[in-house]
Amino acid sequence: MATGLFKHAIHCTTDQQTAEALEQRIDIVCCPYPSVASELSSLLLKLGERDEWRDIPLLLFSQSNLQKNRIKALELGASDCLSLDQSCREAAVQIGWHLNNKHRIELLRRSEANLARKAVTDSLTGLFNRGYFDADLEQKTILAHRTGRPLTLLLADLDHFKTVNDNYGHLAGDQVLQSFAELLKKSGRKSDIVCRYGGEEFAVILPECDSDQAFFAAERLRKNVSRHDFGCPLTVSIGLASTTMNCRYSSSQLLEHADLALYSAKDRGRNRTEIFPTPLLKDLSATKHLSHRPISKVSSFPQALRRSIAALRKAARYSFG
Ligand code: GH3
Ligand code: MG
Ligand code: MG
Repeated sequence: MATGLFKHAIHCTTDQQTAEALEQRIDIVCCPYPSVASELSSLLLKLGERDEWRDIPLLLFSQSNLQKNRIKALELGASDCLSLDQSCREAAVQIGWHLNNKHRIELLRRSEANLARKAVTDSLTGLFNRGYFDADLEQKTILAHRTGRPLTLLLADLDHFKTVNDNYGHLAGDQVLQSFAELLKKSGRKSDIVCRYGGEEFAVILPECDSDQAFFAAERLRKNVSRHDFGCPLTVSIGLASTTMNCRYSSSQLLEHADLALYSAKDRGRNRTEIFPTPLLKDLSATKHLSHRPISKVSSFPQALRRSIAALRKAARYSFG
């Protein structure tokens, strides 16, 4: 049947040939109405294997009993069943409709993927955003608990960033944030999840990484930042917190711990890395009972830690303006 619609047609007579053909960009699959339904099932199963194949229209061509076969074909999951007796023009119109429909679905899928990417991306830096970070930290922490593998959370806060804005302007500040984000992305492993936590604060989830390994990575980053030419002097303070097989912490505990370690790094002079529990925190009577309270022993996050974080934040604000 010459419809004039196709530049290229691939004829397949075996499953192997069909599988090979699908690896190329296929717009439509046409085949004769099968004598038994199972012949169609294997093709439908194959098309269901990949998202991009699921939208390929599958047209069956029948010589007799068109109405009955059409109903059966649609029930089985084919896109349509056409008559082999119809004119080429009629077939071309029907096939053309399916091709257009596929094209529209492709466009929708692309814009859906675009929107999905935008929903998890920070527009200034291109890193994952806070929403993605929250969800991923939760998921990766659960996974770490299940596998017994370590997981470390790194929080990084640019030092005295307000003065960058004040001295060089907000646009220059934005460029510094972008350059820092690039450096952060380049400095880790592929499996690390690099996020902008908010403002001039960044978070990296380091799966399969304990605090000692994370400390090396954090120090490498910190030194790279202090050596990098941002167009203005820049340093970063880093806080680390881990969950391990022996000391399991929830995602919210990890976040609070890394935040405390970060505040300790600020408190101890900035441009440094601290691991939770830090010496400063060990000295604080309000927090000393918290560092060894993993979730395997307590289920809720202690109120006292929230209070001490608030006190510590306040103290840091007073000391450093
Ligand atoms: P510290 O060392 O204690 O962290 O001091 P800091 O100045 O970095 O901290 P502070 O919280 O006082 O100021 C953060 C600054 O970051 C103020 C805010 O205007 C700036 N900032 C936050 N988001 C952006 C942004 O998207 N672009 C620019 N240019 N500046 C930002
Ligand atoms: Mg900050
Ligand atoms: Mg800062």
